Amino acid sequence: MTPLLLNPGPVTLSERVRRSLLQPDLCHRESEFFALQDEARARLLDVYQLDPAEWSVALLTGSGTAAVESMIASLVPENGKLLVLENGVYGERISQMASQYRIAHEVLRGDWMAPLDLEQIAAALKADEGITHVAAIHHETTTGRLNDLPGLSALCQAHGVRLLLDGVSSFGAEAIGFSLDGPLDAVAATANKCLHGVPGVAFTLVRRRALAEAASRVFYLDLGRLVRLQEQRNTPFTPAVHACYALVEALRELADEGGWQARHARYAALAEQVRVGLAQYGIDSVLPVAASSVVLRAYRLPPGVTYAQLHDALKASGFVIYAGQGGLSAELFRVSTMGALQAADMARLLAAFASLLLH
Ligand SMILES: *Cc1c(COP(=O)(O)O)cnc(C)c1O
Repeated sequence: MTPLLLNPGPVTLSERVRRSLLQPDLCHRESEFFALQDEARARLLDVYQLDPAEWSVALLTGSGTAAVESMIASLVPENGKLLVLENGVYGERISQMASQYRIAHEVLRGDWMAPLDLEQIAAALKADEGITHVAAIHHETTTGRLNDLPGLSALCQAHGVRLLLDGVSSFGAEAIGFSLDGPLDAVAATANKCLHGVPGVAFTLVRRRALAEAASRVFYLDLGRLVRLQEQRNTPFTPAVHACYALVEALRELADEGGWQARHARYAALAEQVRVGLAQYGIDSVLPVAASSVVLRAYRLPPGVTYAQLHDALKASGFVIYAGQGGLSAELFRVSTMGALQAADMARLLAAFASLLLH
């Protein structure tokens, strides 16, 4: 039996998306590919009903990190300065990118178990008027925490700084405030998390105004060039053509199923089913529901059970769970409910836990 994937991407595919991979071979410089690229880019804007006059999209070949790196390296202007907010692995990753590209930056290092400290962020913005941009993680997949995007946006707006968001594990399933006069300039995400495509294509949604000031620190991942060429029905390099087939089919499926709000509701129901079920066996979620995304939850390992034991037993029952990252690997395990999963699958997962823990 092929196990179901409960890791935070790549996800278990629907049959519809899986079959979409078996379409004709395409040259990426023929009109058929550009039609596919156009549809992917238009549908990505449609997920949050964005106005193409205000927003554009760069599709790129790579994983989610490539999109985040492209966003950070391209959208902090040459004379700009970045404030990076960390409360997990993915925030740390952005700090590492800023260091590597020698982008002027400050880091606010928060506890991995704590929410972003808005007062501390406000103080940092006040203390350094050179800061032009803030980088944050929307859903910090390290712990399953949904960071306070409305609060952070209000703060950025009040201080006149622009916001760059890693939405890799939230795009397509959580609310994202893209308001016309808001501070959000870009969101980086990937095909193979909440959108249910396959790994290989990632993307950044970017406000057109921000492109005008973009820096050119990076070659392959140059956001400005990607957007410019894709808008001319062109592409700088060979894209992951088959991954584009899957992304387009996944976006059609998302629209047919009722868009991001329906996906949010579906994930929330599955995540709660698992949380309530595990609580009956004394396994607690690490964060309260109100602080959690619907996409992924972190749980404390039951006493006397190692992650490896739990993982191997569940895999034998048909489920791949995910370890904690960094210092959390000895304490936590994670369960993501993205992908083509149903309530019946979660019921089988809970039954597998029961036979593991009650024997
Ligand atoms: C998955 C993820 C990424 C990117 O990971 P890749 O392995 O490069 O796809 C970035 N940020 C967050 C918040 C993620 O969950």
